Amino acid sequence: MPRLGGSGHKGRPYEPIISHFQEHEEPVEPIISVKSLTKTYRLGNVDVPALRGVDLVVQEGEFVAVVGPSGCGKSTLLHVLGGLTGPSEGQVCIDGNDFRLMSDADRTRFRRHKIGFVFQRFNLLPTLSARDNIAIAQHIQGNGFNPHRFETITRMLGIEKKLLHRPFALSGGEQQRVAIARAVICEPKILLADEPMGNLDTENSQVVLDMLRELNRTFRQTILMITHNPEAAGIANRVIRMRDGRIISD
Ligand code: ADP
Repeated sequence: MPRLGGSGHKGRPYEPIISHFQEHEEPVEPIISVKSLTKTYRLGNVDVPALRGVDLVVQEGEFVAVVGPSGCGKSTLLHVLGGLTGPSEGQVCIDGNDFRLMSDADRTRFRRHKIGFVFQRFNLLPTLSARDNIAIAQHIQGNGFNPHRFETITRMLGIEKKLLHRPFALSGGEQQRVAIARAVICEPKILLADEPMGNLDTENSQVVLDMLRELNRTFRQTILMITHNPEAAGIANRVIRMRDGRIISD
């Protein structure tokens, strides 16, 4: 697959990138393609519009920060992209797979194989060691334990000496690094991170941010990260600003 000329394009998503390719090259299919996406929650008799028409194209290897005021639809966008909730209208294509054409079971399987999640709360299983919290993801995916990948990731995230600890014996930063390891251990196509530094102090936030950047650089890991942290937004190679359920700048 041809590499993008200058990942982290800053401008409009698709057309300028295509124009970089020579005639004989196949255009690269975006890893995320969203068209006219809307999502309205129903609360009793009240409709709560969370997304009001989002168009978004992300190429493989991009590190995208999603920013905007609370309630503007950032988490909803991530949840729809991750197949955790369905859209009300519009098209969501991830790695060439149109969610509308997939059954719920197919979408769950797809999510397990292609998408990693990191949340503000680390969501580790309290009775399992760090090692088992990470390894369980490989078992759930069904491909069994991959020692090489395990070692590479835990070393990159600097948690190789903490693997026998249970979550309560780890700092917040270490717990989040374990959660990131769990999210990427199965080599997902996309890592979706919802305020991954939201529960961390400045020092640990910086460490986690550095690790995400390293994952992006080393493995060309595509990352979409919601953040309120201006430094985090500065480190991403693209910043999407949302307001009232729409993307207002990209
Ligand atoms: P953000 O992540 O930017 O804070 P959200 O996507 O969480 O925004 O929320 C967007 C809007 O949708 C808000 O008005 C929020 O109250 C509403 N909302 C989010 N989740 C639900 C839900 N499960 N049920 C009803 N309303 C929701």
